[in-house]
Amino acid sequence: MRVSAPGRLHDRRGVVPAGYIRQVTPAVPLPDPQPRAVPGSPGTGGLVDRHGRVATDLRVSLTDRCNLRCTYCMPEEGLAWLPKVEQLTDDEVARLVRIGVEQLGIREVRFTGGEPLLRPGLPGIVAAATALRPRPEVSLTTNAIGLARMAPALAAAGLDRINVSLDTLDRERFRQLTHRDRLPDVLAGLAAAQDAGLTPVKVNTVLMRGINDVDAVPLLDFCLEHGYQLRFIEQMPLDGGHTWNRDRMVTGEEILERLSATHTLTPDTEARGSAPAERWLVDGGPATVGVIASVTRSFCGSCDRTRLTADGQIRNCLFAREESDLRTALREGASDQELADRWRIATLGKLPGHGIDDPSFLQPARPMSAIGG
Ligand code: SAM
Repeated sequence: MRVSAPGRLHDRRGVVPAGYIRQVTPAVPLPDPQPRAVPGSPGTGGLVDRHGRVATDLRVSLTDRCNLRCTYCMPEEGLAWLPKVEQLTDDEVARLVRIGVEQLGIREVRFTGGEPLLRPGLPGIVAAATALRPRPEVSLTTNAIGLARMAPALAAAGLDRINVSLDTLDRERFRQLTHRDRLPDVLAGLAAAQDAGLTPVKVNTVLMRGINDVDAVPLLDFCLEHGYQLRFIEQMPLDGGHTWNRDRMVTGEEILERLSATHTLTPDTEARGSAPAERWLVDGGPATVGVIASVTRSFCGSCDRTRLTADGQIRNCLFAREESDLRTALREGASDQELADRWRIATLGKLPGHGIDDPSFLQPARPMSAIGG
């Protein structure tokens, strides 16, 4: 493995650590986590980092644009969009996803953004991913605006399931939170996803103290009634305005306390694996509710994610401050093997944890909308 090869490998402060090259060059070859018979590519293996974690779950951002302006994610205005020429084309996305699946052991592909439904070629990109072998699980994270129209085409393209972000059922609060009056579109999108069989439909909710924390129980009741799986996500320091404040964050523990006032929650004993959500059976089950406590109960030790941004950068962590550029190499004619090697190298440097608790923690320059949540 050539360590002098590309990829901007730095620590969180952007400094290349002394002896870095020695550190990333394994004294003995790294074990192949999922040996794959790739003809003509001896020695190929999965995305292994220096802490032994293997990335098998790929998040692909298809655009940095969004039709909502959720306050914890994007500034209301003033965010510069990626120029079109810097964005990967549909074919470039499909090629990198193929390399991930065929050469690097990716088993799950989640398209996200920005808002992925804004990408005109989405059904074709999904179809390309679902045609791959071994067949990855392919899902989508969306705000559901436009999903009522697109759900059948996405199901026909082979999409397996959908995650919809929804933080309140109150129309006025939705408008305040997102700066757009689109709650009815979201609810219609959710129903359409269910009708199209894009199940289980999961609902992602971020609660903010004094703003929508009162929505926790109504959202749970709504999801129980419709058969959606609700998951609360702790707010992370990934907002466009860099205004995140730990004291204002509603913790997983507080969320459980709120829900417990009206429902009986018992821990779901089903193995969690690398899933980010801790799950509870609601009122004895079988319905469950999940809490993704990324800040207060981080699960970096079992992280199996790798991320591709809309402009072709690999991020080995949501909070990484450095990225590895696959787009330039791809456009300069790199082979699949070379691109796979760059991706492997980018993975090696994944830090053991997101570091939010470190005094030296710095929020990534890109907000969540431009990384791909
Ligand atoms: N537009 C799509 C959507 O709304 O689901 C996909 C992109 S959005 C960035 C993906 C997820 O990230 C959403 O569920 C959103 O709530 C979550 N998210 C955005 N900013 C966040 C933050 N600061 N902390 C926690 N979750 C965040």
